[in-house]
Amino acid sequence: MIIPTVPTTDELLDKGFRRARKAASLKRSSKIPGQKKAKVIESTRVQTACQVIRDRLNMIIKRIPDIESLPEFYQDYIDVTVGVDELKKSLGALNWAAGILNQLEADYMARIKRSKPSDAAQLRREAFGRISSVVKRIEGDLDFLDFAKNRLRNMPTVDFDAFTVVIAGFPNVGKSTLLRTLTGAEPEVADYPFTTKGIQIGHLERKWRKIQVIDTPGLLDRPVEDMNNIELQAMVALENIADVILFIFDASETCGYSLESQYSLYLGIRSVFDIPVVTVFNKMDLAENVKYLEEYINKVEDPLMVSAFQGRGVSRIIERLEGLYEEET
Ligand code: GDP
Repeated sequence: MIIPTVPTTDELLDKGFRRARKAASLKRSSKIPGQKKAKVIESTRVQTACQVIRDRLNMIIKRIPDIESLPEFYQDYIDVTVGVDELKKSLGALNWAAGILNQLEADYMARIKRSKPSDAAQLRREAFGRISSVVKRIEGDLDFLDFAKNRLRNMPTVDFDAFTVVIAGFPNVGKSTLLRTLTGAEPEVADYPFTTKGIQIGHLERKWRKIQVIDTPGLLDRPVEDMNNIELQAMVALENIADVILFIFDASETCGYSLESQYSLYLGIRSVFDIPVVTVFNKMDLAENVKYLEEYINKVEDPLMVSAFQGRGVSRIIERLEGLYEEET
């Protein structure tokens, strides 16, 4: 999501007041009769300041999409990353300020019109004071929107029409190697809350089928019991888009996790996700002398043996995924 540049309160006021002065100086050189001139100049300043600041606030509000109309994945993403309620509250505050500026503009224009020419400057000063205090009231909201802009800059571009495979398994089992081998390209890397390496997205296109493969380092590579609420929510967001989980075991245990703990992660993931799980034993090229491997291979349903490194067995993963794709459509 692209949030437009968000000014600070000082920048906003500075711009409004500077533009007001400029607009007024044009009037100053005009041929308005002397008595009336002071009033015209001051009301132009009030009007321009209110309009410039209000337009800028409205532009920010308008350029941010309605959060409820976004796909659920992005709503969750925004919620985890910056907080949907805070975002709405800040936008509401900008809207409030724009409304007040509207009122101030009408109010002070009318008052200057009725005033004595000698009182016009004083009324304008008063209006500027009130404009400043309205803008200062939304300082925290502008700061928050600027923070949100930076946090949401690199949101993943998820294809919601594609059949989606999410990869799970402990660190170093070969998830990103497999993602690259499966999709044959460098994956797109985007931010994802609580994954320092970011989410990786690759696409696999075979005939008319579009399969999207997502790896989330730091999220589906640890026991669910260890996750905090925000991580769980980030995982729920994934569940909304996933059609299949591709669970990777490191058959060689060279990742540093025993088959036993990998199996318990596998059970954890299975219990959380209510979608088909395709299970792969990777690094078979290194797995000759691993104790109990046979036992674990027999414990899971229809495992596939592969070596992502050598590209062996990868075509069978694709066949399996395509089979599930067809079952679904
Ligand atoms: P991730 O943390 O699960 O994404 O794991 P990586 O894809 O980064 O792989 C971790 C290490 O295992 C890397 O050094 C890979 O080159 C290596 N690796 C991945 N798959 C295989 C495989 O099938 N065989 C062998 N021998 N090494 C592999």
